[in-house]
Amino acid sequence: FDDRDGMIWWDGALRPWREANLHVLSHGLHYASAVFEGERAYAGNIFRLRDHTNRLIQSGKLLGFDIPYTADEIDAACNQVLEVNGFTDAYIRPLAWRGSEQLSVSAQQTKIHLAIAAWAWPNLFGADRMKGVTLGMAKWRRPDPRTAPTASKAAGLYMIGTLSKHAAEAEGFNDALMLTLDGHVAEATGANIFFLIDGALHTPTPDSFLDGITRRTVMALARARQIPVHERLIMPEEMAQATEVFLAGTAAEVTPVRQIGDLHFTPGALTRTLIDDYDALVRMSPAEVAKRAA
Ligand code: PMP
Repeated sequence: FDDRDGMIWWDGALRPWREANLHVLSHGLHYASAVFEGERAYAGNIFRLRDHTNRLIQSGKLLGFDIPYTADEIDAACNQVLEVNGFTDAYIRPLAWRGSEQLSVSAQQTKIHLAIAAWAWPNLFGADRMKGVTLGMAKWRRPDPRTAPTASKAAGLYMIGTLSKHAAEAEGFNDALMLTLDGHVAEATGANIFFLIDGALHTPTPDSFLDGITRRTVMALARARQIPVHERLIMPEEMAQATEVFLAGTAAEVTPVRQIGDLHFTPGALTRTLIDDYDALVRMSPAEVAKRAA
């Protein structure tokens, strides 16, 4: 991933992609004092950019640091990265981390750095998407919110995601479904989950994982179509009642789920409708998106 053309924004300046290297004694690498975002641009507009920027700033605060740029500056930097690289449809990855000024659990002397990279990512709302993905049940559970700042998009919280995804892939699944510490359905390793049960959408209360920006967008899209949406604690046994299941996330967009462990689902009409509604929304101007957002 490090050997390609392009420019990466780093602490206020643009650096060539291949030269955007970090010192090995960076605190963020040793102690996971790092937070990041995952954003998508469609037709040149970063979808819900300010929401992502606000979450990035808030993620840092939850890890005890202030990113030394304003939301306006971060938004402008994300757009600059898109423009200098000539992308219209892309994934944007801002990352903030504690630097190499001090290497111990205490890190009061470290500087907070911010880098923003982007890579071309054409969107794939084609017919293929309706095939859906498969999820294996993860052995690892989401940490309880009393054990970690679970509302932060913190690098350290992804360790169990990678472990869970690798285990699921080894069993032939596309991704893993994780439970909360007390056994409720939580989320996939990089996306939130929804179940259609008796004509209503049910999605887990985000008490130990990200309340995703896509999740909230999809809830608004469903309600705009008079589909009731219930946020609640969901037991794994209830999943068998679902007639449709889908994931929602910036990278996943709206993706049908066709299997969870031994349970099989047929991607259906509501999922198709929400895919189309989401596809239309992400192509609207930022002003139009703001008007429609929940
Ligand atoms: N959960 C996890 C673990 C994620 O990585 C993501 C992607 N950021 C989400 C949920 C969905 O969040 P969003 O819709 O804001 O991308």
